[in-house]
Amino acid sequence: MKNDPADPPFRWLLGVSPQQRSILNYWVEVQVAYVLLLSLQWYAVSVGMAEAQDAMWITLYLAANGAGFYLAIRSGWSRRFADPAMTACQMVFGLTVVAMAYVANPSFHGMMLTIVALVLVFGALTLSPRHCRLMGLFSLIGLGLTILVGMAARPAHFDAQQETVLYLFALITLPCIAELAARLSELRRQLRQQKRSLSEALEKIQWLAARDELTGLANRRHAMELLAHEERRASRQPASACIAMIDLDHFKDINDTLGHAAGDDVLRTFAGHASAALRGADVLARWGGEEFLLLMPDTSKDEAGQVIERFRDLFSRPGQWQWKPDLRVTFSVGLTLHRPGETMEATIARADDALYQAKAQGRNLTVSEWSRLAA
Ligand code: GH3
Ligand code: MG
Ligand code: MG
Repeated sequence: MKNDPADPPFRWLLGVSPQQRSILNYWVEVQVAYVLLLSLQWYAVSVGMAEAQDAMWITLYLAANGAGFYLAIRSGWSRRFADPAMTACQMVFGLTVVAMAYVANPSFHGMMLTIVALVLVFGALTLSPRHCRLMGLFSLIGLGLTILVGMAARPAHFDAQQETVLYLFALITLPCIAELAARLSELRRQLRQQKRSLSEALEKIQWLAARDELTGLANRRHAMELLAHEERRASRQPASACIAMIDLDHFKDINDTLGHAAGDDVLRTFAGHASAALRGADVLARWGGEEFLLLMPDTSKDEAGQVIERFRDLFSRPGQWQWKPDLRVTFSVGLTLHRPGETMEATIARADDALYQAKAQGRNLTVSEWSRLAA
């Protein structure tokens, strides 16, 4: 059924929550099927094949239950259940309608099995495989009871032999249909599970594609995306983002004297301190080798300086390296302020320039464009 959520009658009738709307759309479809079957019932009355009183009871029963389910779903009351569509309840109700129609239509007993089958298949959409099978059992017991009650209440309309054959037929077909519904339900469960695993795998792949393998920090490609995002943001609203290029000092010497594995450990430790020293919105990315880019959105010059010094303090504490307790690893920083309207490439170029100055001035220090301007 197609309807527009902005359309007031539909909004009023079906609600605005997508889940409620889809359940009620379903409800409407089921009601259409009931109305069609009910028309057939009244046709049987008009040609003298059924009693008007019976048809009236079935109509009232359908209307009352239809309204009850509608109110339970539309009011949100049914949300307390794992299945807010109350499929199992609706199926049991459908089977009781079939039982009533069975007693009311002596000429159409065989046809009723088709409706039972329809109800059972409906269950495959929501019920668990076990519940699908139970529903098959319930329909068989219900049919047996209906025949017994019908034979006792209206012996003229129930031929014992015919009913026995029909019940034996139901005994063969209904379990098969219930089993089919159970397998469909199992397939549905598997599909849901596969979808979940796929989206988990996709999430992992996206995470890996954005990360540097050694340090777990954002990699250069991801950093470029974040910088582009920050550039767009800064062009819309006045924000002061600071960018720092950080480079470890004499890192080659560590590799050369202590080995590549020790160098890797230094890089990992450097990254590990990031979470302790940085604030939530700051992003530290591995820009290349032993060079890192630190993006600090909405940050003043003073705050940026403090963040870096906190970082320096954590990283240069003695006794960090078990394999060489007296080792001291330092880093140099070039710090700039992103100017709204300029490209991030331009900001990074200035940060690079400041870093070059820091190296030239003896390393283990921060050079910022403003301190240079002040000097
Ligand atoms: P400076 O103070 O001027 O920055 O000197 P530096 O030795 O730190 O800089 P240089 O550019 O000469 O050397 C960087 C070294 O970093 C060279 C390279 O082998 C090493 N390196 C790059 N990536 C890795 C890595 O993933 N692991 C290790 N262990 N070393 C790396
Ligand atoms: Mg270096
Ligand atoms: Mg370098």
